[in-house]
Amino acid sequence: MRMVADYEAGLLDAIICYDLDRLTRQPRELEDWIDRAKQRGLLLVTANGDTDLSTDGERMYARIKAAVARGEVERKGAQSRAQRQRAEQGRPPKGVRPVGYRIDGSVIPAEAEVVKGIYAAFLRGDSLNSIARALSGVKGGDVAAGLSQFPLHSRTLVIERNERRAAEGKEPRPVPPEGVWVASTVLSILRNPRYAGYSVYTKKKDRKLPPGESQRKAIKDNIVRDENNEPVLGQWEALIEPDQWWNVQNLLDDPSRVTNRSGATVRKHLGAGLFRCGECGKPVITRARYYSCKDGDMNRTRDAIDEYVRAVVIERLKRKDLNRRKKQIDPDAKDAYSQRIAEQRARIARAERDYDAEIIEGTDLARIRDAARAEIQRLEAERLASGTGVVLGHILGVEKPAEAFLEAPLAMQRTLIDTLMTVMLKKAKQGKKGFDPDSVEIAWKS
Ligand SMILES: [Zn+2]
Repeated sequence: MRMVADYEAGLLDAIICYDLDRLTRQPRELEDWIDRAKQRGLLLVTANGDTDLSTDGERMYARIKAAVARGEVERKGAQSRAQRQRAEQGRPPKGVRPVGYRIDGSVIPAEAEVVKGIYAAFLRGDSLNSIARALSGVKGGDVAAGLSQFPLHSRTLVIERNERRAAEGKEPRPVPPEGVWVASTVLSILRNPRYAGYSVYTKKKDRKLPPGESQRKAIKDNIVRDENNEPVLGQWEALIEPDQWWNVQNLLDDPSRVTNRSGATVRKHLGAGLFRCGECGKPVITRARYYSCKDGDMNRTRDAIDEYVRAVVIERLKRKDLNRRKKQIDPDAKDAYSQRIAEQRARIARAERDYDAEIIEGTDLARIRDAARAEIQRLEAERLASGTGVVLGHILGVEKPAEAFLEAPLAMQRTLIDTLMTVMLKKAKQGKKGFDPDSVEIAWKS
């Protein structure tokens, strides 16, 4: 401690601090300061007044303060230990209830439907902003389908608290006005592991992190895991299939995979930033009715190009050879991963039982367990890597993919185009009337 060193070196004879317990929360350290004060004199100036540690009365006061401060530290430690234990037992956490659950962990059906609708919209390719707009009751424009106006959770919580206060004969707190949903509110629902049934414990230091990437990443780390590193399941009903929840995390973690995820830049046009200039290869920008090259290489009428590109995609979707791909990204394939992972878990459990029954040796158990865990890890990685399939599965995995494509939200159409092909816009030939298909070059991605 720098301060101790400075004092020992005779550099200071008074210490100014906000309160005594800022000097030290450790009674033992306080005793050291008292000894120093006795030996050489020390004036402590705090917001509550001066403390002269060389007098008995003041020393007593300082000791009481330090003991109280120490007790507080211990109590907080005990509280977080109790919370951690609750989480390890999969019991619903105390405190603020999330959308969809009562504080005891039981499901609130109307709210649960909204949570499910938010996940479904996001997996369909809707942006956080378009989901927020739908929940705010906005009609028309870029609004996620299947969701309607819903009160903000923060407001609902105040109203519920007021009901409890009224029951206790207390004055109600002011209820905030009806607000609008924002992308970050939607994000916090999409990020909450409780919806997949996972028990969560937030370490105290994580709670203090500023909002942003570090915090978002930390949420997955907050899933409580057992001694086998398997997530602890909470004693509440999951609203979202774990596979789907992980796919959402995957998409959120990698916005480059899917355009228009964050909703930060709403793309209103099919090819904005996606189609490329045929001369220099840079992504095109939109200007009025045109797709243009930033460097001025070309300027093309947007509607005609969009129409042509959509027609090409539809032709492509009608081809049989997409069946192979369809199979790869069949949404049902997701369940196959879960099942194979469950099989490996069962293998571990069986080996443990056999070991308990003295049918196999400890070395056999270790070998089986290591192999099964490695396989689980591999399967989980594979499942994550196939994440794009979920979005595209909604188009390619259906009976009539061409119709599904035309009905899909713009963001999803863009995703599919980006997966299938690169669109290059060449300069229109001088003197050529109408739309010339040769001026749009399509390179298929394998
Ligand atoms: Zn260019």
